[in-house]
Amino acid sequence: MSEFYKKILENNKKWVEEKLQISPDYFNNLAEGQNPPLLWIGCSDSRVPANEIIGAEPGEVFVHRNIANMVVHSDMNMLSVLDYAVNVLKVKHVIVCGHYGCGGVKAAMGNSSIGIIDNWIRHIKNEYRLHQEELNAIKDDNERFNRFVEINVYEQVFNLAKTSIVQSAWNAGQELGIHGWVYGLNSGYVTDLGYNLNSNDDLDAVYQMEF
Ligand code: ZN
Repeated sequence: MSEFYKKILENNKKWVEEKLQISPDYFNNLAEGQNPPLLWIGCSDSRVPANEIIGAEPGEVFVHRNIANMVVHSDMNMLSVLDYAVNVLKVKHVIVCGHYGCGGVKAAMGNSSIGIIDNWIRHIKNEYRLHQEELNAIKDDNERFNRFVEINVYEQVFNLAKTSIVQSAWNAGQELGIHGWVYGLNSGYVTDLGYNLNSNDDLDAVYQMEF
């Protein structure tokens, strides 16, 4: 067994002991059920750990992560997580959190084939095409990359709002805010990008569903 592998098992024991010192019922209470107010949709990148960067305890955040924090409307995994979070857990907030330096977004700006992941990355390329005028006008490569990371978050916030899951919750009067954040790998800080959607009225008419 590698040292790392041994270490993570040891870490788990220490973590349990620490939590039990806070309260002997810590895990018994968690086992009763969950009532998180937040669904987090983030990147799989190992440097963007959802709970840690927002100081959330177990039980406080329902998490979905994939490459480049995407909301792809035919992704049954994402739809299942979203449906459960909105309709069963009744979360009040969904945050899409992108991050500067995202490898998925970077790959979408290039032309190299990486393998099967090309098909996932193509969703991000489609966004580049939608915003190419703005992006191509940015001469500095890094600035353009950063802006595309933000645009990708923007598109995923709207992709969430376009789902029947979110729209029917809004239609039923459920309190549900969708937010877009970006995380700075080199600072640790998140920035709220100000893409906050709260109702069908925030969508283009063609996407507004009637129930
Ligand atoms: Zn990423």
